[in-house]
Amino acid sequence: MTANLLDFDLEGLAVFCEGLGEKRFRATQLFRWIHQRGMSNFDDMSDLAKSLREKLKAHAHIAPLPILSQQISKDGTIKWLFDVGAGNAIETVFIPEDDRGTLCVSSQAGCAVGCRFCSTGHQGFSRNLSTAEILAQLWFAEHFLRQYLNQTERVISNVVMMGMGEPLQNYSVLIPSLKAMLDDHGYGLSRRRVTVSTSGVVPMMSRLSIDCPVALAVSLHAPNNALRDNLVPLNRKYPLDELLAECTLYLAKAPRDFITFEYCMLQGVNDQTSHAHELVQLIRKHAALGLRCKFNLIPFNPFKESGLLRSHDDVVQQFASILIAAGFVTTVRKTRGDDIDAACGQLAGDVQDRTGVADRIALQRAVPIQWHPSQASSSSGSH
Ligand code: SAH
Ligand code: SF4
Repeated sequence: MTANLLDFDLEGLAVFCEGLGEKRFRATQLFRWIHQRGMSNFDDMSDLAKSLREKLKAHAHIAPLPILSQQISKDGTIKWLFDVGAGNAIETVFIPEDDRGTLCVSSQAGCAVGCRFCSTGHQGFSRNLSTAEILAQLWFAEHFLRQYLNQTERVISNVVMMGMGEPLQNYSVLIPSLKAMLDDHGYGLSRRRVTVSTSGVVPMMSRLSIDCPVALAVSLHAPNNALRDNLVPLNRKYPLDELLAECTLYLAKAPRDFITFEYCMLQGVNDQTSHAHELVQLIRKHAALGLRCKFNLIPFNPFKESGLLRSHDDVVQQFASILIAAGFVTTVRKTRGDDIDAACGQLAGDVQDRTGVADRIALQRAVPIQWHPSQASSSSGSH
């Protein structure tokens, strides 16, 4: 088996080239051909010596992911379904806006965290993606879009690790992928324009701040542990105070001076004014210790197995106004691509659940969600 060169950041490619008896700077040339020019045929890489091209043909390849489908929403959002083998498929979404183009990238086939409101979580977990599979999403999308939109300049200005999977549970693969995104010889994205979204894998947040500090979004979804335990099962391992303390530490290394908190608005579950006030109290406590944040409220995107409903617009607005009145910058995420099921949390791909997560979630659903704040706060902090 020859090496798939999409599996390397520039450092990894340099080591690979040295293994072929080539100078490190050849790796830079090669990396630029691959990521900046979108080339996959070594014979087209005209400034590489013929001898190197022959070696590469014998020992390496550049393999895109097979595309199973491409859907284009009426709002311009594009969703691709890629085949990652053994019955697994992952999704990638391009979201065009006036001043930027954002690619939402998957990190795993499925997800083992099993959040109750997330379609990916309901599918269970199959396996981690490789660096090549993460970078192939960006590589394909960028070069496809340049042709499709007839643009010679870069189309994708932002990457968000908000597709399928929990990126911080695939850490060793995530880091080289991020490095290739940031590399000036790769995609040249600034750290502020690459966002890792996490449900709160606290020890890995700490490592990310050292290894590759990019913008951080944390999926909060609840103002107390009892409710968050129920919605985001990982909270039982890393409860809110620990998570928020780690967010504060992350800021010291972060490229932005705030953490984005995502909060999925679920009708009657976490969207009451009492929840908003409880959230203000919780965050104020940590703000006093140095936490700075913005809120992004995401109206729940329903899928049929969830048994949950989207909060009404006026409820979302009221929730937002309480946070704003308390001094927190708060936005409500526009739903994009919902006609093609490309909105947040609707990405399901096709996952061969090998871990029984899907069954565990089905069992959990039989347990009613405990949402009343007074009930909930009595057990918060019990961790
Ligand atoms: N695993 C990571 C990143 C992928 S999910 C994380 O959880 O942060 C990206 C975002 O979509 C998260 O904030 C997640 O909570 C949110 N999300 C998941 N399901 C959703 C749904 N059905 N409707 C709206 N947002 C959802
Ligand atoms: Fe996994 Fe994120 Fe979905 Fe939770 S919201 S199940 S962590 S992908």
